[in-house]
Amino acid sequence: MRDLIISDIHANLEGLEAVVAAARGGYDRVVCCGDLVGYGADPNAVVDWVRAHAAVVIRGNHDKVAAGLDSMEDFNPLARQAAVWTADTLTAENRAWVRGLERGPVVVDGAYAVVHGSPRDEDEYVTEGGEVRAAMEAATEQLTFFGHTHVQGGFQLKQRQVITIGPPFLDETEYTFALSPDYRYLVNPGSAGQPRDGDWRVGAAIYDTGAKTVRLLRVSYDLETAQRKIREAGLPPLLADRLARGY
Ligand code: ZN
Repeated sequence: MRDLIISDIHANLEGLEAVVAAARGGYDRVVCCGDLVGYGADPNAVVDWVRAHAAVVIRGNHDKVAAGLDSMEDFNPLARQAAVWTADTLTAENRAWVRGLERGPVVVDGAYAVVHGSPRDEDEYVTEGGEVRAAMEAATEQLTFFGHTHVQGGFQLKQRQVITIGPPFLDETEYTFALSPDYRYLVNPGSAGQPRDGDWRVGAAIYDTGAKTVRLLRVSYDLETAQRKIREAGLPPLLADRLARGY
């Protein structure tokens, strides 16, 4: 089975459509690591697409806030404004569906796990050192896909040694690696809607459960349209600007 893993779409329909188009023909199933909404201008279109196409979906922190499951206390002012707008804009049906999303970790077909933040806490940011080791130790599977940081790539761990896995280079559109039986892996497919690793292109991953290979994809998309929709919706203009910087 080849699974297209997408995360942190954040209501960016143009980003989502671009990663799906780039992956077309190369996957059998869609799995989503959460944060479907928040920041972008198309929460309903993105939720509709994920509802229709994803086999497995877990919730992210922005989904919880939009669905009224969590307060926006921890959000900065930009995220708050976007969360209020998103909660008002989601249809009642989509809001109810988002509210019912599962909490990670979820193990997919006994092959790998998906979480939003980390295996031990769905809201934790896994970025370096001790967090990575603690997250790996809490993981039940050899491979866990995670989101939340919007930084494509991840980590492989053998005993106490952590090796960073980078995203594709700026002039490349993909990077493929095979799992080694000696290592455990935490892999971020990248953000399909608001990258924060300095590359404006959206990301996703394809995991081949038979070959045990991970393909990280990086895809150009219709940035201008996504930005224009954010401005026209009355969302904070900074949310449009940051998409161009990939941060
Ligand atoms: Zn996110």
